[in-house]
Amino acid sequence: MPANERAGWARAGRVILTGAARRYLRRCALAIPALVVLLAAPLVGQAGERLSIVATTGMIADAAREIGGDSVEVEGLMGPGIDPHSYRQTRSDIVAMTRADLVLWHGLYLEAQMEEFLQRLAKRQTVVAVAEQLPRERLLGHEDYDDKRDPHVWMDPSLWAKVVVAIRDAMIEARPDREAMFRERADAYLERIERLGDWAAEVTSSVPDEARVLLTAHDAFAYFGRAYGFEVIGIQGISTESEAGLRRIRDLVDLLVERRIGAVFVESSVSDRNIRALVEGAESRGHAVRIAGTLYSDAMGPAGTYEGTYIGMIDHNITTIVRALGGEAPADGMQGRLAEASR
Ligand SMILES: [Zn+2]
Repeated sequence: MPANERAGWARAGRVILTGAARRYLRRCALAIPALVVLLAAPLVGQAGERLSIVATTGMIADAAREIGGDSVEVEGLMGPGIDPHSYRQTRSDIVAMTRADLVLWHGLYLEAQMEEFLQRLAKRQTVVAVAEQLPRERLLGHEDYDDKRDPHVWMDPSLWAKVVVAIRDAMIEARPDREAMFRERADAYLERIERLGDWAAEVTSSVPDEARVLLTAHDAFAYFGRAYGFEVIGIQGISTESEAGLRRIRDLVDLLVERRIGAVFVESSVSDRNIRALVEGAESRGHAVRIAGTLYSDAMGPAGTYEGTYIGMIDHNITTIVRALGGEAPADGMQGRLAEASR
């Protein structure tokens, strides 16, 4: 190639390269804002990002999972057998709550040992006490404190349904773009809770009048009693923080003997020591009392099982109570799903 021709190609090449470089730079300039949006999205929880929720009790965590499906990541702090009245946040709980998009707790003084921390956290983060939103007139009193209410509202499915609505609304507020989906899933879940309540009303009505007394380790069943017409007696009060004295045990032994109560229940989240003392006390006076099963009072059953869901927990309780007190309910519960071990 002659020298002048080579120089011509080189010039042309330079022009071509410069043009491509210019176009490349222009594309980059357009791409940079798009890249910024993509990088920033996870930080501000935009579309596609899962809503991270930390819930104190298993029942609240279960509802959040039902409502959110795959679009949420839910961590429940209190597992099976954990007593919420005495639970105190661990260091890893604090980390989880600080990082979460939304923290859901029960309120009504259930998480007595965490309340101060949660109220402090609420000053800088979205923290919602879901049971505090219930209408005051639907709440029962607290025998230990005039100004407090009985927190065990999950024992009445019709009341718990209102808490589920509060959980749904808190989730919608955190992710308004998911509103339609949260509403649709919540409606389906609320329908299942309504069926549970109807079924509970039906089977509890088969318990004979004289047997409608529920004696448990602590006063967690007052809403159950109100909903289905049972007298409920807890050895310890609404909270588990005060120990039952010998006098209380003696009085309850008298009551068991006088009223010929033949069945009492232990609870998965409270020691069975007091219940055993009652049974022994009644026996020493010639009245046989049997421990008729373990109820899930303040915590659900093992994770990954039917009893480890709110519906399974209540199904287990209702089935156990009805069958122990002489009523009629299938041994495997409302929908044939109760495990052999839980019967
Ligand atoms: Zn309790």
